[in-house]
Amino acid sequence: MRRKIVAGNWKMNNTFQEADELINEIMDGLEEANQKSVNVVLCPPFTFLEMTTDYAQESDYAVGAQNVSCHDAGAYTGEVAAKMLESMGVEYCIIGHSERRKYFHETDKELTQKAELLLKNNILPIFCCGEILPEREAAKQFDVVKQQLTDAVFNLDPLDFAKIIIAYEPVWAIGTGVTATPMQAQEMHAYIRSLIAEKYGKEIAKNTSILYGGSCNAENAKELFANPDVDGGLIGGASLKAKDFLKIIDSF
Ligand code: PEP
Repeated sequence: MRRKIVAGNWKMNNTFQEADELINEIMDGLEEANQKSVNVVLCPPFTFLEMTTDYAQESDYAVGAQNVSCHDAGAYTGEVAAKMLESMGVEYCIIGHSERRKYFHETDKELTQKAELLLKNNILPIFCCGEILPEREAAKQFDVVKQQLTDAVFNLDPLDFAKIIIAYEPVWAIGTGVTATPMQAQEMHAYIRSLIAEKYGKEIAKNTSILYGGSCNAENAKELFANPDVDGGLIGGASLKAKDFLKIIDSF
């Protein structure tokens, strides 16, 4: 179902104490704002998932992981399986983030496996896609995003695909302070929705949440979220400051 979502991707930041403080500040703010129309998702590192899911029982946010193994179980030292995440109360998981594609060489085949395992374990994948700067400069952004969707998630069956959340994250905007203009975001989101309609039909396309990510902050979120095909944001840096993150949540 199409929902407004603001998800915070903490990446590899915060100590246990800092994470504890940040969650508490966010919880206080959520209680005050009583914001019911937006689904808030916190995606801390694996080490803080237990604390985050514990606190979630007293608050109005859901918990996401930043990664998952493409294997079901077994001798994969250092990996974390989808069923482990589910058993901890994790409801979402980011997959295909550009940092994982770049530094950990995640392949499309692995992303399909991750999406399938997550869905089998009742966790909603947040699938990231987006072009790098030379691709945008060469006006190839639409081809790149189409290819990423086709190779990683358009092979899912319709019932599975209908549960996926897409995050359009132009790589040149991630952590750079350069944000896509509202027009660039809307144009790509509308394109992604049209691709989904072509592949899975209008109903599924209409109901898919498509988030924007890439230097989205307390100042620019309102303008980005005002676009008809932008259903919220995947927030990196600004999700580490409770005040900014809460303001972004309040930007709808
Ligand atoms: C991200 O890493 O998903 C992201 C959008 O980062 P930032 O908001 O810092 O650009």
